[in-house]
Amino acid sequence: MRPLIASVDLAALRHNHAVAKRCAPGRQVFAVVKANAYGHGVREVVSALHDEADGFAVACLEEAAEVRAMHGTARILLLEGCFEANEYRVAAQLGLDVVVQDRRQAEALLAQPLSKPLAVWLKLDSGMHRLGFSATELRLWHLRLQDAAQVAELNLISHFACADERGHPLTEQQVEAFLDLLDLDFNQRSLANSAAILSIPAAHMDWVRPGIMLYGATPFADLSAQELGLRPVLSLEAELIGVRDVAVGESVGYGAHWVAMRPARIGTVSCGYADGYPRHAPAGTPVLVDGQRVELAGRVSMDMLTLDLSDHPGIQVGAKVELWGAQLPVDEVARAAGTLGYELLSKITPRVPRRYRSR
Ligand SMILES: *Cc1c(COP(=O)(O)O)cnc(C)c1O
Repeated sequence: MRPLIASVDLAALRHNHAVAKRCAPGRQVFAVVKANAYGHGVREVVSALHDEADGFAVACLEEAAEVRAMHGTARILLLEGCFEANEYRVAAQLGLDVVVQDRRQAEALLAQPLSKPLAVWLKLDSGMHRLGFSATELRLWHLRLQDAAQVAELNLISHFACADERGHPLTEQQVEAFLDLLDLDFNQRSLANSAAILSIPAAHMDWVRPGIMLYGATPFADLSAQELGLRPVLSLEAELIGVRDVAVGESVGYGAHWVAMRPARIGTVSCGYADGYPRHAPAGTPVLVDGQRVELAGRVSMDMLTLDLSDHPGIQVGAKVELWGAQLPVDEVARAAGTLGYELLSKITPRVPRRYRSR
């Protein structure tokens, strides 16, 4: 077997879920499990949170159906609502909570006879300008939907653009835009993603929506997951499958991009960009080998990447490699590669076997 696995610690996941609950006491939690639970495996994540989660949030009906098959009673929120009119019927059968974020979705809902009325979340565009009604439109649709036969609950939802940058002025404006609508009668309200759960108690409302924090990565640039009391969940683990000496002036990898400035020892690792390791990670990106920090050298290839082991003569073929995870925060690798933990985690490809432990 190719030595590469994603080792997923479900006890750490449960710990992080408890942190979210503790940050927002008395509030309910939609655990965000879109995109295969940020790459962690939606079935295992939903099972692990089965008894403690109030609900789950997903990006589409197909993801919702997968969660419903694992959990018969939890609330399941469709974050972008229905993409086609006929999806409302399925949403009603599955007992989903649906976001309604524009006029087209609202009209399609009113045009459907449903087997069971739905919990509807009217989405306010409070300043991100990606999805949602303006405040004026939202008031209008609140009026039109409040007594509709298709609607069991009328709720309010919005999403932050900059909650990850603490003190960003847009965040306060967004909270105010949300509060401004609360003279209307809503059954439930939801505003906070991970960043807001951790830093803006005034945004907690009735339901919080933690995503990245459940997976033990930080939503903030200036606060680490560890400082937030979060535990890493997924470790991407490989092995050293080759070691060689490279003379001064010789190059390593595609494009002959990296050149040895001193007699170098180069290690080759069983992980590449077709596994989800970022191809654009530059030389110097940290990697752990036998618990020691070393640096990427040369371009990442499809199935392999290369490391500079020159300062570590003791490291041999077969050594354990951690690309990120329990001992090397994914956020640190993301920063070196100019991206976010969100992207690294959700892009781990299906060919990497996931192995689960619950300790
Ligand atoms: C993905 C998503 C979340 C979770 O965000 P995190 O930053 O991962 O906590 C919350 N709400 C909406 C609408 C989302 O799309």
